[in-house]
Amino acid sequence: MADETTFNRRPRDFALELVEEGRVSAEDMLNWCLGFMSGDDVRGMLDANELSPRFEEEEEEESEEYCVECDCPLTEEDLADGGALFCLDCIAEHEEG
Ligand SMILES: [Zn+2]
Repeated sequence: MADETTFNRRPRDFALELVEEGRVSAEDMLNWCLGFMSGDDVRGMLDANELSPRFEEEEEEESEEYCVECDCPLTEEDLADGGALFCLDCIAEHEEG
């Protein structure tokens, strides 16, 4: 319950319960939390949850795929229609020949 005891002893639970009880929307609560936090707080929170840009860059490198024919890295455009094995150049060559 989002009552006074919860508010005093477990404020985070109190905030979550306000949302769970439908008294405020999750989106409002998110905006209030982010608005109340400093830029450093937000950056620290995002980093702790691996959502900061440095994690995105690492992930892209790890998940990079290569054309099975010419070994060039596949772009997101190449992979757009469900995981292509060939780059657009090689696909175009196959279609022509
Ligand atoms: Zn290729």
